[in-house]
Amino acid sequence: MKYAHAAHTRRRTIIYMAAAFLFLVVLSAVIIWNGAKLLRALERSTLSYLEDVAGESVQLVDNRINGVLESLELISDSVARLEPEVWRDFLSRKAEICDFTDMALASEEGDAWFLNSGTREINNLPSFSCALNGEDSISIWGEYIVYMVPLPEEVSSARVLLGIKSLDRMRELITNECFNGQGSTGVLGRDGSYVIPPEYRPFFSLLQETEYGESEDWAVEMLENLRTGWAGSLVLKTKSGGDILLDYRPLLIDGLFLTTLIPKDILSAEVDLYISRTFTITVLLVALFLTLLIAIIGMQNRYRGRIEKMSFHDPVTGGASNVYLQFQAQELIRKAPQARYVVVSLNLRNFSLINEFEGRQQGDRLLRDVYATLRTEADGEEELVARGEADTFYLFLQGAEQPQVVERLERMAGKLANLSGTIGPLRASMGIYYLQPGKMAQPEEMDFAAAEACADAARKSAEKSYHNTCTFYDESIKNRQRDMTTMLYQLEGALERRELEMYLQPKVCAENGAVAGAEALVRWKHPEKGFISPATFIPLCEENGLICQVDLLIFEQVCRCLSRWREAGVELVPVSVNVSRQHFRDPEFLSEYKRILETWKVPPEWIELEITESIMFSGSEFQYVRDFIQTLHKIGFTCSLDDFGSGYSSLSLLKDLPIDCLKLDRQFIISRFEEQSTRTVIEMIMDLARKLGIMTVAEGVELEKQVSFLREAGCDLIQGFYFSRPLPVEEFERYAFGRSLGAGGEAI
Ligand code: C2E
Ligand code: CA
Ligand code: CA
Repeated sequence: MKYAHAAHTRRRTIIYMAAAFLFLVVLSAVIIWNGAKLLRALERSTLSYLEDVAGESVQLVDNRINGVLESLELISDSVARLEPEVWRDFLSRKAEICDFTDMALASEEGDAWFLNSGTREINNLPSFSCALNGEDSISIWGEYIVYMVPLPEEVSSARVLLGIKSLDRMRELITNECFNGQGSTGVLGRDGSYVIPPEYRPFFSLLQETEYGESEDWAVEMLENLRTGWAGSLVLKTKSGGDILLDYRPLLIDGLFLTTLIPKDILSAEVDLYISRTFTITVLLVALFLTLLIAIIGMQNRYRGRIEKMSFHDPVTGGASNVYLQFQAQELIRKAPQARYVVVSLNLRNFSLINEFEGRQQGDRLLRDVYATLRTEADGEEELVARGEADTFYLFLQGAEQPQVVERLERMAGKLANLSGTIGPLRASMGIYYLQPGKMAQPEEMDFAAAEACADAARKSAEKSYHNTCTFYDESIKNRQRDMTTMLYQLEGALERRELEMYLQPKVCAENGAVAGAEALVRWKHPEKGFISPATFIPLCEENGLICQVDLLIFEQVCRCLSRWREAGVELVPVSVNVSRQHFRDPEFLSEYKRILETWKVPPEWIELEITESIMFSGSEFQYVRDFIQTLHKIGFTCSLDDFGSGYSSLSLLKDLPIDCLKLDRQFIISRFEEQSTRTVIEMIMDLARKLGIMTVAEGVELEKQVSFLREAGCDLIQGFYFSRPLPVEEFERYAFGRSLGAGGEAI
C-alpha cells in the first residue's frame, strides 16, 4: 500500500536540505567576505607600520649625517684658527677621534689634499659646488661618503673641509635587522639603482621574484618619485604569489633614498592562519550541524514512517486502517469538493462466532479475504476501503443514485457470501451515508468520523434482519438518534424518580401447567408515553452502561420479593434475572450482587441469572465465561443461557458450558415455528439438553399447538403469553400463589 503522505515527507526533507545548504553557502560567503576585509585592513595597517618604521630609520640616518656634519663644522672652525703647518697633524687626530677614514682640505679649483691618499681632483663631486657656496653637503664617491663643510676662512688657499667615511658605516646603520629579520633596508640612488644594496639575503630572493621591469606602471611612478625626491610605498607581486611591501623615502644626502622591504604577510601570516583555522572550524561545525540535521530528519522520517505504518496500516487485513481512510478521504474531498461520495459502514453478521468456533486465525484470514474482496471491488485510488473495529469495514465510494449504490453494494455482499466458512454464508449489514457535495471542503468542516457514525447508525437500524441489508441514513434515523438521546436523558431521570417497575412473567411446567418459576422483566412507565418496551430502551442502556444500574435495581427487587414470600411462608418459586453483558467489563461486578443478597438474606439457590449467548461473542473469552459460571455456582446462583439459538450458536457450546438451564430463543417459536426444520432443531436441542442434564425453557409461547409440541419434545418449562404475560408483582402473586402477599406495587 502506498501512502500519499510519504511524498509529502520527502518534499519536506528536500526543503530542509535546500535551506541547510543555502545557509551553508551564505555562511561561507560571509566568512570569506569578512576574511577578505580583515586581510585588506591588515594590509593597510602593515603599510602604515612600514611607513612608521621606515620614517624612523630615515630619521636615524639623517641624525647621524647631521652629527657628522656638525663635528666637521667644529673641526673646520679650529682648522681656520691653526697655523698652516700644523693642520695635517690636527686633522689626523680629529679623523681618528671622529672615525673618518680620511680627511682633506680642498681648494676652490677642486684640488683636495688628503691625509692618507695624496692630492686628488674633486671637481666632479656634485656637492662640492654647494660647499664652495657655503653650504654643508654630502656626496657619494665610490665606496665612500664625502661630507663637505665650507671653511670659515681660507687655510693655505683651501676653502672646503672634507671628511670621508666608508659607506660600510652607513650600511651598518641601516641594516639593523628589522621586522624580525624578515624585512630588509637599502639605499637607492635617484636613478633607481642601489647605492647600498640590502644585505639581507631574503630580500634578494624576494626582489628577484618580483616582475620588476621599468615598463611596469609602479616602476615608472617610482622612478618619477625618485627623480623629484618624493617618498612612496607600494605592493610588489612576486612570482611565487607572496607580496612584498616596499617603502622609499629621501635621506638628507641629496639623491639618496632609504628603501625598506618586507613580505606583505609578515603581519597577516599569523592572522591568515587564524582566519583559515576559523574557516575550517566553521566548515566543520556546519558539516557537523548538517550531518546532525540529516540524521535527525532521517530519524524523524523513519519514526514518522513507523507511526504512519502503525496508524495507517491494519495488521489484521494487511491493508489500510480507518485512520488512513479518514485521512485519504479528506484529501480526495479537498481535491474535488463538488464530487459526490458515499460512506458505507459494513458489518459482518455474527462474525464473532467464526472466531469462537473456527479459531481466531481463521477469523483473521476471513477478515483479510473480506478486505481483499472489497478492495478489488473498489475503484483504484479514488475509492477507499478500511477495516474499522472488529468486523466493521468502512468504504469511501463514488456517489451515485440510491438504486445504483444498492446494486453495487449487493454485488459486493454477494462476493462476500462466497467467502463463508463452515457456519454458513457470510452476511453483511450495510449503512450508507451520502456526503453533501461542497460540504467538508475545509479542514475545519471535515468531521469524517461523524459521517462514519451516521453510516453506522443507518446500518444498526436494520441490524436485526437475517439477510444482507442496505440502509441509507435519512431523517428517520436522525430523528431516532435524537429520540434515543432524549430517551436516555429521560431514563436517567426515571431511575431517580423510580418510574421503573419490575414485572414477573411466570414459567410454567410443561408437564402439569404448575407455576415453576418467573422471569423478572423491567417496565418503564413513562408519565406521557405510557409503558415503554424494554426492547426499545434496554439496547440504549446497554450502549452507555446505564443497564448495570437497571439490572442491579431489578435484582434487588427480586431479592425483596423472595424475602417477603419467604416470610409469608409460601412455597417459593425460583426467579430469574437478566444480567447484561455490560457487567462483564467489570470483573468485580458480582460483589454488588453478593452485597444485595446479604442485605435481604435470600438463599441464592432461588435466583437464576440469565446471561445471553452473545456475551461470549462480545470480546469475552469462552474460558472466562466458563469460569464466571463456575463462580456463580460457588455463590449459589443457578445460571441459564438466554436467547439460545438467536445467533450462530453451536450445540457443542452446551456440553462445554456448565449452565443449569437453557432458554430457547423466542424467535424459534414466534416466527419460525411453522418451519419443519425449526421444529426438528428444537427437538434436537431438547434431546441434547436432557442428555446433558440441562433444564429447558421455551419463551414466546402463544399457542396451544406450540405447548403440545414442546411438551412432546421434552421441554421442561414454558414461558409465554399462552399462560401469562409479564405481570405486576401483585398480580403474579395471585397467579402463582392464589393470593396477594402484600406487594404494594414494586416500584423501584
Ligand atoms: P428476554 O430476556 O428474552 O425476555 C423475554 C421477552 O419475551 C420479554 O420481553 C417478554 O415479555 C417476551 N415474551 C414472553 N412471552 C412472550 C410471548 O408469548 N410472545 C411474545 N411476543 N413475547 C413474549 P420484554 O419484557 O419486552 O423484554 C425484552 C428484552 O429486554 C428481554 O428479553 C431482555 O433481553 C431485556 N430485558 C428486560 N428486562 C431486563 C432487565 O431487567 N435487565 C436486562 N439486562 N435486560 C432486560
Ligand atoms: Ca431473559
Ligand atoms: Ca430470552
